[in-house]
Amino acid sequence: MNEVQNFIFEGLGIRGAIVRLGDTWAKVLAEHRYPADVRELLGEAVAATVLLTTGLKSTPQISLQLQGEGPIRLLLIQCSSELKVRGMAQWQNAAADEPLLGQGRLTVNIDTGEDGRRFQGIVPLAGPKLKECLEEYFSQSEQLPTRLMLTGAGNTVAGLLLQALPGNDASDSSFETAAALAGTVSVDELLTLPATELLPRLFSEFTIRLFEPRTVSHDCRCTPEHLAGVVRMLGADEVNSLIDETGQVEMTCEFCNRAFRFNEAEVTRILAGETPGPTVH
Ligand SMILES: [Zn+2]
Repeated sequence: MNEVQNFIFEGLGIRGAIVRLGDTWAKVLAEHRYPADVRELLGEAVAATVLLTTGLKSTPQISLQLQGEGPIRLLLIQCSSELKVRGMAQWQNAAADEPLLGQGRLTVNIDTGEDGRRFQGIVPLAGPKLKECLEEYFSQSEQLPTRLMLTGAGNTVAGLLLQALPGNDASDSSFETAAALAGTVSVDELLTLPATELLPRLFSEFTIRLFEPRTVSHDCRCTPEHLAGVVRMLGADEVNSLIDETGQVEMTCEFCNRAFRFNEAEVTRILAGETPGPTVH
């Protein structure tokens, strides 16, 4: 659990990755009280973002953002090259039968960590399902046939990605065959079966080479330095009026939902360029 694992189809230009998150997903949820359908979508998006970091060469830093006019206003998930993930959703209550994703757009930012190696792909939301939106992203931005399975139940989210690599022969139907087989995976299998059992069972007519699993953890990165920067961005006038009104400056991290409070003495030091540790509540 809390792992992502790459695999390839031997002799064919097809790669894959499988992710399962338990505790790490629970930590992303933290103190948030999301409605069940928002929680489900966020879980799928977290699994998908981890899958977006996979590739055979390097692990880039990924930010996945959905902005929409439907009930989901914003979905933002970030995963670092060390596979540390965080995510949040902003939503408003949906009317009955209204899909969570309405008109909007999906933005993927990829940072490989090398100078100038940043990439941004933006596509309109292609449908009410996240997997459709992401498959459209892959089709337009990476121009590689890609299939995704995303699921969640209880305290686990999971995902499976299959992608035809640039060298894949388009006249070869192996990718379509593999994608169709991937589509037969049950929710239960995807959530619980070890990859060493699931992949040979699912793709029994292919030879799969499975790479070592890598751990995915949660890390919010809302450090004292970052929060002090936010206080400075508010500016002295705003900060001083908050101190006058309430005696403190309180900020809630929108990712992990922790509240941080700075008193007058701490704020004075921050505005003077120092970084005191905040009081965490
Ligand atoms: Zn945080």
